[in-house]
This record gives sequence, C-alpha cells and structure tokens, in this order.
Amino acid sequence: MSGAGKVYLVGAGPGDPKLITVKGLECLQKAHVVVYDRLANPELLAYAPEKAERIYCGKLPDHHTMRQESINEVLAEKALEGKIVVRLKGGDPCVFGRAGEEAEHLAGRGVAFEIVPGVTAGIAASAYAGIPVTHRDHGSSFAVVTGHLREDKPELAVEKWRALAGGIDTVAFYMGVANLPLIRTQLIKHGRDAETPVAVISWGTLPQQVVVTGTLANIEERLAENSHVTNPAIILVGDVVKMREKINWFEATLGVNYSLAE
Ligand code: SAH
Repeated sequence: MSGAGKVYLVGAGPGDPKLITVKGLECLQKAHVVVYDRLANPELLAYAPEKAERIYCGKLPDHHTMRQESINEVLAEKALEGKIVVRLKGGDPCVFGRAGEEAEHLAGRGVAFEIVPGVTAGIAASAYAGIPVTHRDHGSSFAVVTGHLREDKPELAVEKWRALAGGIDTVAFYMGVANLPLIRTQLIKHGRDAETPVAVISWGTLPQQVVVTGTLANIEERLAENSHVTNPAIILVGDVVKMREKINWFEATLGVNYSLAE
C-alpha cells in the first residue's frame, strides 16, 4: 500500500448507533482497519468496507484484554503501512477513553492522526432517561467523574469529595456502580443533602435501557430491588434528576427500530 496512513480516534457515541457523528461515519466508510472496543456498538462495523480488517480489543469472555501498549502499537504500525485506521471507542474518545494516551503515542511516532469527538454517555444516557444535565432552575454546573476511585490518594480524594458534594450541581459518575456505596456515603459525609435525587442509567440510549431512581439515602436499596441494572451504567446525582418525572420521552417510544440502515 502506498501513501501516508492516518489514525482517526473516533467516538462511536453512547450506544444508539445513530448517535455517531457524520464525520465519524465518513471515517468508518474509508477505513482499511477498524480497531474497536466493547462499548462501540458493533452495528457500526457494517459501515466499514467489507474487506476492512476488524480488530477487537475489548474484554473477552476470559477477561483478557489487549494491553494498551499493544493497541498503541497496532494503531501506529498499521498507519505506517499506509493504511487508514479507525480507532472506534464508545462515547467520546477523550472522556475516560484513553484517546490522550493513544494520540501521544502516535505523535511520538510521527504518525498523523485526528480526534473525532463523540456523544458521551454521561450526557446522552441522561438525556435518554429524560434528564437534562443542566437546567436553568435545577443545575448550573456539571462534572464528569470516574467512579473507579483511587483510595491510595486520600488527601486528594477528600478535596474532590468536598467539591463534588458542595460545589457542583450535577455529577455523572462513570464506571461507578460497584462503588455506589462508597460514592453515596462520601457525598453525604461531605455535606450533600441525603435527599438529593439520583438516577442509575444502565445501557443508556439502547432498547435495553434501564433506569433506577432514588435519593442518596436510598439508591442502594432501590438498586438491589432491580436486577436489570448491569454495566455499563452512569450514576447521575443532582436535582436535575427530578425532570425525569416530566420529560421521560425515550422509554415512552421504545420499540422503534434502532438500525441505522432502516
Ligand atoms: N468514552 C466513554 C466512556 C468510557 S468509560 C464515553 O464518553 O461515554 C465506560 C463507562 O462509560 C461505563 O462504565 C459507564 O459508566 C459509561 N457508559 C458507556 N456507555 C454507556 C451506556 N450506554 N449507558 C450508560 N453508561 C454508559
């Protein structure tokens, strides 16, 4: 193959395949190689040319994943062979998506790349749950936080909890379901009202979307009563969650056909 290759770090959107951007779709259509992970909707692969190489790098049933260094290496090597490589990631590639690390590696190797933003789950799953992450009356600030919290840096953690409990109206925790007991306890401990509304949104924007609501005080019990909540899920904390009672539009329309090809 001749000519210069390039890597596109593309956001696939949160689940509903139609939430990929036009630019992201165009990248897929011209890809020679697609490197995709578990949360990128597999339906999107149909938009890559039939002969394109497809490389899965998400979790396998035996829980083995491709190491980040190997992914970086594959992206660089294929592009250096002159190929158009699409690195397709769930949501936005820069929000807990390691696009920064991959771009850094590519820059270091002198490989051309572009970042194609995507619709991130914290905003999209919330919207599909009938919850706007900001609202003039209920929330003027919004934070995106990993729920995969590092207990090895306690001082930092305290500062962070204070900020999240006291200064930010809406907080979306990614990768947080296993840590829900810790998250709700820390928020209350650092001053957040125990009656603050919470939603846990699982498989947001997809037909299997499930939403469980409650308060910081009772969300754990609410979740225990609902066995349908599985990963991936967003924990959304804040008064904006109340809006769901009025504008829960998506669940009312479930049953529509989500295939892009319709
Ligand atoms: N880059 C992605 C996030 C990757 S981290 C983005 O911008 O959305 C993986 C976490 O994203 C999951 O643990 C979950 O918290 C969240 N997530 C991804 N897809 C989701 C979905 N369809 N519904 C709810 N949460 C989702």
